[in-house]
Amino acid sequence: MTSTLLRGRTLSFLRWPEAIDDHTAWRYEEDGGLLIRDGKIVAAGAYAQVEKQAGEGVRKIDHRPHLLLPGFIDAHVHFPQMQVIASYGAELLDWLNTYTFPEETKFANAQHGRRIARLFLDEMVRHGTTTVAAYCSVHKASAEAFFAESHDRNMLNIAGKVMMDRNAPAGVLDTPQSGYDDTKALIAEWHGKGRQLYAITPRFAITSSPEQLEMSGALCREHPDLHMQTHLSENHAEIAFTQQLYPQARDYTDVYEQYGLLGKRSLFGHCIHLSEREADALSDSGSVAVFCPTSNLFLGSGLFDYQRFRRRDKPLRIAAATDVGGGTNYSMLRTMDEGYKVIALNGEKLNPLQSFWQLTRGNAEALSVAEKVGTLDECTDADITVLDARATPAMRLRMETVETLAEELFLLQTLGDDRAVREVYVAGRPAKSDLIGG
Ligand SMILES: [Zn+2]
Repeated sequence: MTSTLLRGRTLSFLRWPEAIDDHTAWRYEEDGGLLIRDGKIVAAGAYAQVEKQAGEGVRKIDHRPHLLLPGFIDAHVHFPQMQVIASYGAELLDWLNTYTFPEETKFANAQHGRRIARLFLDEMVRHGTTTVAAYCSVHKASAEAFFAESHDRNMLNIAGKVMMDRNAPAGVLDTPQSGYDDTKALIAEWHGKGRQLYAITPRFAITSSPEQLEMSGALCREHPDLHMQTHLSENHAEIAFTQQLYPQARDYTDVYEQYGLLGKRSLFGHCIHLSEREADALSDSGSVAVFCPTSNLFLGSGLFDYQRFRRRDKPLRIAAATDVGGGTNYSMLRTMDEGYKVIALNGEKLNPLQSFWQLTRGNAEALSVAEKVGTLDECTDADITVLDARATPAMRLRMETVETLAEELFLLQTLGDDRAVREVYVAGRPAKSDLIGG
């Protein structure tokens, strides 16, 4: 079996960096090496040391002076919304009714689903993202298309068929029973097949009847190792409508709580307008709040209070995500740039080391997949993103005055996008240079 030896400046996180000079929180090698065999990192460290373990016939790829990081992780994204992104002029509920639901009806057609799944994963790779937690459409065929495409590429992705049985056009509705049956069939076919992971996916309380949320809770009990993903507390009109639909619930979070949907593998998109009680409930259950800055700004939903959520007595587990197509960019670099601004509007800062922790190890921990991805640790999967901080003339010029790693990372986050991603490895295989047009 051929091995590959990558050389470059390697950066991987051990834990949350408390401050910009908290050097023991990450491992950085100015001349680093990663030895890859059978899709896994088998040795990592100083190049001179790693090279000794490489043996004969190793394929050497020199990425100096670029940075080698763990592949980025996007914790909340809708693959059927590639032709919804950049739709003008609506807040959440109108945006869903005007643009999103009509678009998602197209995914009844399996061929359309397969085409968009292919283009979507191309776009992820192009932007340095190697793992996503994805919403498919309501149609079973859309999830089959996504998983087939993901499996062909040997990517570690989490996804699920959306369940929704009311308050949307007929073309995107299932029933509590068909949603349950289709989900069961998809779990049996795809969960644990290669690197694929299934997420039980009730879209949100507005589009699920109590019967459907009951069935979603049953699925979670029957498959406690699976993820559950949904939306929570994104916008005021949504919260008010939810309270109307579930008058007996104490608050929005309580709707999901009552059906047993909170837990360590539960991912709640947005979580912007939470009460203290709701934040406590999420924290007590180990649930994850997913920060989607470009989407929250674009739809005018509100400002996620990242640092306060982290520092409260009962802290929240936090992930970060694009939320395309409510989100406006596929890039996790662009996402963290907007995230920085949202946090700044809350009177706080997120330093660049914390930011890069979040989109690698932080998101991997939030998705409970850090044993496999999100670091450059030995024995993990070789999902790697190669970043070039001099990718454009403006970046090259700015780099002339950059002196530290933290400054370079902040430049990458502030000015970088897919052009800064020089190569991406998926389970050790060069994936970006494989794309047509690179
Ligand atoms: Zn979403």
